[in-house]
Amino acid sequence: MQMPIKGRDWAEIKSEMMARGDGDAKWRDGKTAVYVFNAGEEIAAIQKQAYTAYMSENGLGPLAFPSLAQMEKDVISMALGLLHGPEGATGAMTSGGTDSITMAIKTARDYARADGRATGRANIVIPQSAHLAFDKACHLMDINVRRIAVRADGTYEADVEAMGEACDADTIMLVGSAPNFPHGIIDPIEVLGEVAMRKRVWLHVDACVGGYFAPFARMNGVPVPAFDFEVPAVLSMSADLHKYGYAAKGASTVLFRSEELYAHMPFDLACWAGAPMKTPTLAGTRPGGAISAAWAVMNVLGVDGYKRLQGQVCETRERVEEGVKRLGFKILGNPMLGLIAFAHPEHHAFAIYGEIYRRGWFTSVTKEPPSLHLMLSPKHTDVIDNYLGDLEVSVATVAAQAGAAKKADVRYS
Ligand SMILES: *Cc1c(COP(=O)(O)O)cnc(C)c1O
Repeated sequence: MQMPIKGRDWAEIKSEMMARGDGDAKWRDGKTAVYVFNAGEEIAAIQKQAYTAYMSENGLGPLAFPSLAQMEKDVISMALGLLHGPEGATGAMTSGGTDSITMAIKTARDYARADGRATGRANIVIPQSAHLAFDKACHLMDINVRRIAVRADGTYEADVEAMGEACDADTIMLVGSAPNFPHGIIDPIEVLGEVAMRKRVWLHVDACVGGYFAPFARMNGVPVPAFDFEVPAVLSMSADLHKYGYAAKGASTVLFRSEELYAHMPFDLACWAGAPMKTPTLAGTRPGGAISAAWAVMNVLGVDGYKRLQGQVCETRERVEEGVKRLGFKILGNPMLGLIAFAHPEHHAFAIYGEIYRRGWFTSVTKEPPSLHLMLSPKHTDVIDNYLGDLEVSVATVAAQAGAAKKADVRYS
């Protein structure tokens, strides 16, 4: 497209723009189980109204916009209240999980350096199931990543012992996920904490997808193990509001056990031509709408609202577990929250994925081991039986193809 010389009519552009969405995944109908967290039309409308109310304001300017500064403080305070933040714990809002993780690593690195450690090339030790955002951040900062295979006992949990052995004098961070994205499994954070204490290494918990889910699941009676600041060795956490916080996109939180640790995060520079511009996170300009929408949704839902929605998601996940087991799938590990991955002992998950995709479902896969992957939303309550029906047909189709291929093999051999 070339920029039009003369601007066109907004009404015409708007209808063209909306028409472009016709080919997109049908997330409004609950047909996606990745990318979108659908808590219904009412929450979507509140996100939009609250976002547009502060869309033009800039989180870069807390003095100009004390409204946003206070909303961010409130969001961090609510987060720390949910995640057992001790007295003095603090944090900041970021644009997303990748941003939160990047800032946590940067903070841990600068903390280690201020302490005279990790003077060589630093490294972090993470489970193989940890999000690739850790590698992306380390790529930017010339930090080595030591990915350690998860346990081979069918739990898919981090192999804490092997992670401890991988630490050396240049290790600036150990990581556990709550839960990880590929399997939806919560790592044994307490045991990881013991290793972190023994090795004197910073422990970060990546609760990007679970930080605003696990506390409510626990309130609903799910036996969620200790995973947050309740574990004394946990020094920082990442938790995304734009996932199970049901906030508008562009909202995450990065949290620290103390002001002393947090102090290594903000960037400031005296020697440049412009005005002073101290920034807490990677961003300069920060969309006010992402802050106001998160603040609004958290207040609209409250503890009761989140308990209800996350309970609904857990119930749906249990229905998925039952349904896929009936179709012969094996569930990876012991998922407790909104994510689940399941493999088929006979048929390749990616072949089944192809069939379910053809039936209009935009879901995901896990590579190790090959399995189907779902990240469930409250909306899925309405459609999960249709999904399971289509999955049954998909498995049957793959099985028939495998049968036909076998016959052909016999003929040619
Ligand atoms: C989504 C996710 C991230 C990355 O968050 P973005 O907001 O996509 O940058 C990191 N870790 C886990 C476990 C996640 O689920």
